Amino acid sequence: MAEEKNKYQSRRDFVSKAGKLIIAAPLIIIPVALAKKTETTGYVWQIDPFKCTTCGNCKTNCVMTPSASKCVHAYQMCGYCDLCGGYQRQGVKNISTAAENQLCPVGAIDREFVEEPYFQYTINEDLCDGCAKCVKGCGDFGNGSLYMQIKHDICVNCNDCSIARTCPSNAISRVPEGFSYIEKDKRKK
Ligand code: SF4
Ligand code: SF4
Ligand code: SF4
Repeated sequence: MAEEKNKYQSRRDFVSKAGKLIIAAPLIIIPVALAKKTETTGYVWQIDPFKCTTCGNCKTNCVMTPSASKCVHAYQMCGYCDLCGGYQRQGVKNISTAAENQLCPVGAIDREFVEEPYFQYTINEDLCDGCAKCVKGCGDFGNGSLYMQIKHDICVNCNDCSIARTCPSNAISRVPEGFSYIEKDKRKK
């Protein structure tokens, strides 16, 4: 008798739980379906380098490691300076390629002699983790030829870019796929 009662009880629990699930399912499925319906295909995330304030979130907030946001170089703007504010740590005693003199924490900037007194700086994208320190240094002491961009061949195009969500200067927005990168040397401020 007690066994019958237990069976009855567990069947009733099952039916009650199933009923709750059936009621709750649309509440779960509808928002997911709506979220998926948001038109995101055909769009990519892009940084406006004229709005970027080099806060450092690009390094820490991307879902990719290292970040899909990288430093890029507008060669046409560069002064090819011997003393480069994006390459040398501030206050160094001598200008050299010694690791302790470099501003980039991961050694992602190559310095190459061109001719007296000019040097070319090249970003190694594989090493760059998007910390934006060199971008700040170049902006503070140089002519701002280093700047941040989200590389579309690395970015997984999150529905809600976690860098964009926390960017203090609203420098990141969705643009149509195929829309040109905002290049510093091709657009006036
Ligand atoms: S989060 Fe925004 S302000 Fe900060 S480095 Fe990235 S683009 Fe620049
Ligand atoms: S300083 Fe930061 S942003 Fe600049 S090249 Fe190095 S890792 Fe990239
Ligand atoms: S969309 Fe995702 S992968 Fe791309 S930059 Fe933003 S957080 Fe990184």
